[in-house]
Amino acid sequence: MSETTAALSHLHQLRQDLQRVTERKEQGPRRITAKQAYVAKRKQELETARQRVKQLRHSADQKNLQLKTHEAKIADLKAKLNAAASNREYDILRGQIEADTMAKSVLEDEILETLEQVDEAQAATRDAEQHVAAAEEELKKTSEGVAAELPGLDAELVALQEKVGAAERFLPANVIDTYRRLVEAFGADALAPVESKACGSCYVGLTMQQILELKTGKLLFCKSCGRLMYLSPE
Ligand SMILES: [Zn+2]
Repeated sequence: MSETTAALSHLHQLRQDLQRVTERKEQGPRRITAKQAYVAKRKQELETARQRVKQLRHSADQKNLQLKTHEAKIADLKAKLNAAASNREYDILRGQIEADTMAKSVLEDEILETLEQVDEAQAATRDAEQHVAAAEEELKKTSEGVAAELPGLDAELVALQEKVGAAERFLPANVIDTYRRLVEAFGADALAPVESKACGSCYVGLTMQQILELKTGKLLFCKSCGRLMYLSPE
C-alpha cells in the first residue's frame, strides 16, 4: 500500500466519522421538534374531547329546559281538564295531554342518552389528558437526552475536525480546491475507494493506466463522478 493510499483511506475514515457525529448532533433538534409536534397533536385531541363534553352538556341542558316546558304545559292542560265545560272539550284536552306526555317521554329518553354520551365523552377526555401527559413526558426525556449527549458530541466534533485537518495536510495545493468543492457537495463521499478496478462511488471501471497511477501514489479524480479515488486497502 502506497503512502498516498494509506493517507486517503485514513482521511476517508475520519471524514465518515465526522459526518456520522455531525449528523447525530443535527438529529437532536429534529427529534425534539418531532416530539413537540406530537405533544401539540395530543393537546389538539384533548381540546376536541373537551369541546364535545361541553356541547353534549349544553344539549342536555337544552333538552331539560324543553322538558320543563312540556311539564308546565301538561300541568296547565290538566288544570283546564278539571274545569272542562263539555265532553268534547274534555276529549280534546285529554288528547293534548296524551300527545305532550308522549313527547315528554321521548325527551326523557333523549336526555338519558345524552347524559350517557356526556359520561363517555368525559372518559375520552381523561384518556386524552393521559395521552398529553405521556407525550409531554416523552418530550422531556428526549430533550434531556439530547442535552446530555451534546457536550460529548461537541468534544468529538472538535477532536475529529482537528484530525481531519491534520489528515488533509498531505493534499497538494493543486488538488485542494477541487477536494474542498467535493467535500462541500458530497461530504465524506468526496472520497471513493477503488474496488475490483472500479470507482467505489459510481462503479465505472478504471483503465489499467489509472490503476497503475493510483498504485504509484498519484492523486486521481474519477472521470465519471469526480470523486477523489484511492486504492482500497483490502
Ligand atoms: Zn466514480
